[in-house]
Amino acid sequence: MNIFALLLLLSGYPGQAVTVDIPYEPELEAVSLLWQSQAVSMARTDEGYFALLGVDLDLKPGAYRVNAMLTFAGDRKERRAIDLTVTPKDYPTTRLTVEPKYVELSAEDQARAARDSQQINAAYATTADTRYWSDDFIVPIPGVTGGRNFGHRRVFNDQPRAPHSGADLTAPTGTEIHATNRGKVVLTGDFFFNGKAVFVDHGMGVLSMYLHLSDILVDEGQIVERGDVLGLAGATGRVTGPHLHWGMKVTGARVDPFTLPGLTAAP
Ligand SMILES: [Zn+2]
Repeated sequence: MNIFALLLLLSGYPGQAVTVDIPYEPELEAVSLLWQSQAVSMARTDEGYFALLGVDLDLKPGAYRVNAMLTFAGDRKERRAIDLTVTPKDYPTTRLTVEPKYVELSAEDQARAARDSQQINAAYATTADTRYWSDDFIVPIPGVTGGRNFGHRRVFNDQPRAPHSGADLTAPTGTEIHATNRGKVVLTGDFFFNGKAVFVDHGMGVLSMYLHLSDILVDEGQIVERGDVLGLAGATGRVTGPHLHWGMKVTGARVDPFTLPGLTAAP
């Protein structure tokens, strides 16, 4: 039995960024959400309040609840519920061949990969409460093809590994890589699996990452505008050839970049 009034009914599949729009009500001053242990503050728009929620690639289909806290004038608070149905989605399996050192890691590489993920997870954890962007998201390489391999189960050199958490865009080494939206560069570096990489925080739980670059052209702490060049495509880290791995995280969840507002939904 619901103890809070139902505000919205949403649905999404594993790997989807879900848009939440809450219409304005008289005296409504702020709305915050709690989804999968992540607090998300909503942005004020002309019509009401807006946020993005990520449905993680590994989230089991079923019925989920998002808690919404509405703050009205005079600090009057009201709790409402948003029901989110996670529908199943099947992703195909791809088989890849990479240098053996990326599948059977040496002790040294294992330690490096562990240090890398600590650093990267720390960057993910610092997402700003302010929304840096106001326009729709764009593809980091204008007019590029490919990139529809998000979520693919992967077998490297005959060994199953983590599913693919981004979109691989075809790009010869040296191709300019543009910021998908306005944000703040929170991490740059050269990592074992990711190669040379740039991580951008767009605020409100939305982060983008650009991996396997040949060159990084921005600094940590820098604010980038949508479309600014962040670096050049390359083949650094665990790759089968030059391309851009473009990843998006929304409220801590790995989502298909093509499910963000302004981008065409992936087939
Ligand atoms: Zn990739």
